[in-house]
Amino acid sequence: MNSPLGSSLEDDLATIKMNDPTKFRNIAIIAHVDHGKTTLVDCLLKQAGVSFSNERAMDSNELEQERGITILSKCTGISYSGYKINIVDTPGHQDFGGEVERIMNMVDGVILVVCAAEGPMPQTRFVLRKALARGLKPIVVINKVDREAARVIDVENDILDLFCNLNANEDQLDYALLFASARNGWAVKNMKDSRTSVKALLDAIIEKIPHPKVDTEKEFSMLVSHTESNPFVGNMLIGRIASGKVNVGDRIQAVDQKGVKMEANKVHKIIRRFGVHQIELQTAVAGDIISIAGFEKATVTHTMNNLQNNQVIPSVPIDPPMISMTVKPNDSPYHGKEGDKFTYLQLKERLLRESENDVSLRVDFDQRQKDSIFVFGRGDLHLGILVEKMRREGYEMSLTPPQVIYKTENGKKMEPIEEITVELDSDHVNILMDNVQNRKGVITNSDPLPEGKSKVVFEAPSRGLFGFRPFMIALTKGHVVIISKLKGYEEHKGPIKKSSKGAILSCHQGKTTTFALKDVESHGSLYVGTGTDVYAGMIIGEMNKEGEVEMNPCKEKQLTNVRSVSKDENIKLAPARIPSLEDCMVSLRSDELLEVTPKNIRIRKKVLDSAARRKVKRERRDDEA
Ligand code: GDP
Repeated sequence: MNSPLGSSLEDDLATIKMNDPTKFRNIAIIAHVDHGKTTLVDCLLKQAGVSFSNERAMDSNELEQERGITILSKCTGISYSGYKINIVDTPGHQDFGGEVERIMNMVDGVILVVCAAEGPMPQTRFVLRKALARGLKPIVVINKVDREAARVIDVENDILDLFCNLNANEDQLDYALLFASARNGWAVKNMKDSRTSVKALLDAIIEKIPHPKVDTEKEFSMLVSHTESNPFVGNMLIGRIASGKVNVGDRIQAVDQKGVKMEANKVHKIIRRFGVHQIELQTAVAGDIISIAGFEKATVTHTMNNLQNNQVIPSVPIDPPMISMTVKPNDSPYHGKEGDKFTYLQLKERLLRESENDVSLRVDFDQRQKDSIFVFGRGDLHLGILVEKMRREGYEMSLTPPQVIYKTENGKKMEPIEEITVELDSDHVNILMDNVQNRKGVITNSDPLPEGKSKVVFEAPSRGLFGFRPFMIALTKGHVVIISKLKGYEEHKGPIKKSSKGAILSCHQGKTTTFALKDVESHGSLYVGTGTDVYAGMIIGEMNKEGEVEMNPCKEKQLTNVRSVSKDENIKLAPARIPSLEDCMVSLRSDELLEVTPKNIRIRKKVLDSAARRKVKRERRDDEA
């Protein structure tokens, strides 16, 4: 059977197995969330004849789409007219510790997808800038030109301005420009060309993107840019072969960035992606993007070499974990009612699996605390996304407040300090600066950018940055770029003022009533509405002042002989403000836990029983006295 663009399955298979670097094209796709990257890639795969199930090929992770973040780069390949095109996905939102740089090292060109109505968005600037700085050749696709709101000419100009602002060189400014409706399956060079397929885009890739400049005769070397855990073959090392060739059965080694040998073994399998399929190869050559199996210890930033060759391909280091939290089985009165995976073993297995695929996540255990799994990650966003992903898969768990990882040096307490770069509308700069101060941050640079924008750079302790991203996204309605990197460890900067608000606790288990909540509301703002299941020790609202109060939110109105005029329906409550998962995670106090289930997120006291809690508190006071 032929694909819509005419190649037969035999042709495709021949292309996949072909090892001629001049016939390879390696590209990354850059797009703001919702501008149509996934639809476009699906369309390329379909028209190139790579059939796949109804699952979308890239970015199939619902969560990534929702938040506009592709957390782990994914790579696939298609064949077209005798060429093999490797397509790598890029994180659209922000850099997860050097991920963008590692991806840009694998490709020779980028496709920038921009929505014809919205135009270029700030989040793509960062990735595009990295691509241009590396001298990669761009192709621009203005997508969704079918939309009524499309303003193609304006957007065309905005893109040209963006390239100029980002200091594109002359060759890059001479980019191929295409107009597309990925949803309708076409891309054309001129608006009046006939709109039948994405052939024009594939042709542009072949014509405009250079083939990898590599030497297949030199010794084999490959930088590991990504790892993946495969249930059948174990750890898979994904990267672009920098030089030479590799065969199944070759003995090769992994060396770290300092040139230290980490592991040596036989190549067990070489796999090349083709659509959603994985094709096994006997040999692969420089310029290709492949996966290698047979190495359990090798990881991202390692260079794979022949045994006698200790050459290191430089790579941006992976930021080490900066925060930790403890995941335990949910033990609230509602445990096991809302999720279908809630045992310690289920949580452990899932978290271990995640850490195998995410080099910046570490999972640890302690024999003395048998129900606890210690999880270490890059930041609140990183851990927040993981928890959200698990909850959607049906997991229930309880979490302790995330904490930064301290170190002690020469008897001094040291804490991680991050350098944050923010690009935003200049109107918001003052609010940003005030906010940074409250987080013990220090502004190191502030520069105006074209078009009423500004770039602000500051340094702040990681623990001060909890909740910074959601705050900025709300402030700027998403028109912000935030890039963080670990600067290093510095002496502890002293206490950071926390919210002086207290907690309203439920002292009862049951369903809330409007009648009772009206009373609760007089103390602060509610996290729960009428008819919500609550239990004793659960936090149902934020109190206006410090401290805590216990109330019964399930109280029914006493029925009297005299019919009451004020029915429940006549009582009006302010809408409950249900905090987001990340808000909850970063605002948890040390004596609280977060109960996460597929249906609900509840903040609760660690000790649910009121008398027991008071006892713990008294004992602690006695200890401190
Ligand atoms: P991504 O976030 O960049 O991967 O964007 P998606 O591919 O998920 O697309 C986001 C939304 O835009 C989806 O609802 C698509 O159906 C829609 N979309 C994608 N391409 C087009 C297009 O060419 N025209 C129109 N009108 N909608 C499109």
